Amino acid sequence: MIADCIAVMSKANDPDIVATSTVMSLKDPVSYLRIQVPCRSNVCSHNQCFDATSFLQLQEQAPTWSCPICSKTVAFESLAVDQYVKSRKL
Ligand SMILES: [Zn+2]
Repeated sequence: MIADCIAVMSKANDPDIVATSTVMSLKDPVSYLRIQVPCRSNVCSHNQCFDATSFLQLQEQAPTWSCPICSKTVAFESLAVDQYVKSRKL
């Protein structure tokens, strides 16, 4: 289920969301573990990613759909896996 969501997010990746900053924590703000699947919402203005798996697990338990970094409301449709960060092999 979560894997399916991540697959959708990866396909829907918006090229505008590519991170340009190299100064970014690789720790997930939700689980405090190393980010496995970096993602971000296109409504967010920060480069910091959070872990898609941890975030989706949290939404299953307590669906708030707010960004763990800036607290903006982030619809599932606005989320995208950050291919740039992913390609850096976390
Ligand atoms: Zn945010």
